[in-house]
Amino acid sequence: MNEFNPDIAPFKEWLPVNHRPLIVSGPCSAENKQQVLATAKALVKTGVVNVFRAGLWKPRTRPDAFEGVGALGFPWLQQVKKETGLPVCTEVATPEHVEQCLQNGIDILWIGARTTVNPFSVQEIAEALKGADIPVMIKNPVNPDLKLWMGAIERLNQAGIKKMIAIHRGFYSFEQAPFRNDPIWEIPIELMRLCPNLPIICDPSHITGNTFLIEAVCQKAMDLEMDGLMIESHIDPKVALSDKEQQVTPAELEKLVAQLIIRDNITDNNDFLEKLKELRFEIDKLDAELIQLLSKRMSIIDQIGYHKKENNITILQINRWNNIVRECLEMGDKGGLNREFLIRLLQIIHEESIQRQTEIFKK
Ligand code: PEP
Ligand code: MN
Repeated sequence: MNEFNPDIAPFKEWLPVNHRPLIVSGPCSAENKQQVLATAKALVKTGVVNVFRAGLWKPRTRPDAFEGVGALGFPWLQQVKKETGLPVCTEVATPEHVEQCLQNGIDILWIGARTTVNPFSVQEIAEALKGADIPVMIKNPVNPDLKLWMGAIERLNQAGIKKMIAIHRGFYSFEQAPFRNDPIWEIPIELMRLCPNLPIICDPSHITGNTFLIEAVCQKAMDLEMDGLMIESHIDPKVALSDKEQQVTPAELEKLVAQLIIRDNITDNNDFLEKLKELRFEIDKLDAELIQLLSKRMSIIDQIGYHKKENNITILQINRWNNIVRECLEMGDKGGLNREFLIRLLQIIHEESIQRQTEIFKK
């Protein structure tokens, strides 16, 4: 894979935020002038909101759902800006949306999850953004594909957009989960590892799809060192025209943000640092041992592969695999390992073992 090295302007240089978390809030959809203004005014009063959001064009699953007010909402957002001083942002999905936003004083754009999945759409949006100095936030694609997310970031960056923020809003999953969109935290964490200077915020509203799990997701995002949160809020959520189950009131938002524990990632407490160093040394040693053990395991797998090939025996022996899983789970139980974690780990190791033997069978 090509190196992933987008040229990013730190958001502190272009947004007046000097503390974590950056809070983007506002309704899922701009519905009418009264709702937009009442929500924005209540939000600014909380003192915790940095950016006002409201969707003008709404990507809806079925055509008979509320699809947003479109360009009609621009004057409402302009009034929000004037009366609250908050920068305003909205979702763009087409070059026409981009052009209209640029002409109507929108401060920040975001690309929605249903758009990030489509490189054609992202490219068209990127073309429309050429020469514009507007910040863009990029939501992860609906499906758990980090490369698509990275690709969208690169397309915009190549069009000259440097003021960027990634938004983690969870991923569609077949599994019945407590969440509307499975957070799969490993994906944003990998994005953070690959591009440490790209700001990333979490959208707990679209992850949870309800209001009772939002706080836990916000706290987790903060403990993973994310830069901020995009939380949907509505002056009267029960009558919202879209995503009514997941929107909080401005008062609830204020309480939620106040309850978050924002931990430092650095400290000069020497006792803490010494202890941490010791423990990390142990972890590094164990990681090295784990890698050595895995290499050893794989080299024995290769020997088994040749042995089976010479004797015309199939690669997969389901009984053997069942026994391994059962025995490992028993050992894991004794060692206090989570069963789901262990099964996933065993599956990855097993898949690689099968893959290696398949390669040997091809030789
Ligand atoms: C939204 O933010 O209202 C929205 C439609 O989000 P997503 O693209 O994450 O579904
Ligand atoms: Mn929404």
